[in-house]
Amino acid sequence: MKKVLILEDEVSIRSFVVINLKRAGYEVVEAGTGEEALELLKVNPDVGVAILDIMLPGIDGFEVCRRIRDQVDVPILMVTARTESVDKIRGLGLGADDYITKPFLPQELLLRLAAVLRRVYGAGAGEVLRLGAAEVHWGTGTVRRPGGGEAALTAKEYALLKKLAANRGNIVTIDALCQALWEGPMVGYENTLMVHI
Ligand code: CA
Repeated sequence: MKKVLILEDEVSIRSFVVINLKRAGYEVVEAGTGEEALELLKVNPDVGVAILDIMLPGIDGFEVCRRIRDQVDVPILMVTARTESVDKIRGLGLGADDYITKPFLPQELLLRLAAVLRRVYGAGAGEVLRLGAAEVHWGTGTVRRPGGGEAALTAKEYALLKKLAANRGNIVTIDALCQALWEGPMVGYENTLMVHI
């Protein structure tokens, strides 16, 4: 189960979301401002998905989304109060994974969240890939090593490993890896790819 970061300045809405997320089994970290959310992400590298409100005091949700994208590969679900914001989310090319419009039912949010997680981290909970003595658990997006060490994969590391595992024993080109990570053979991404590897 992934750790969720929720950014929402309205306390009543935030607590309502937090209660529902926890009830559904998610671990939650919460922020009331964009600045706080970015700080929390730095100290919680195991956050697997971020839910961002747009209208906030200080920097807005769009800016938070942009800064998160510059720093980490965590999937993002935007929360918008108005439909015109939806057009903006699409138009800005911020790399948000999905959005949900206020007001929403807790069930809607949980479904949307599960869909994002499934899309980014893949389905097949419980599936395990063995690499020597290490185990990759696709369902939780973690790598376990003998001796008890467990590391959480980032979304990009996950996609990379998934692509390589699907082609085990075969050559996988840089273009094919870029395709898997950025949905296109993007020139100039080779260095970024190497960093993820
Ligand atoms: Ca707000």
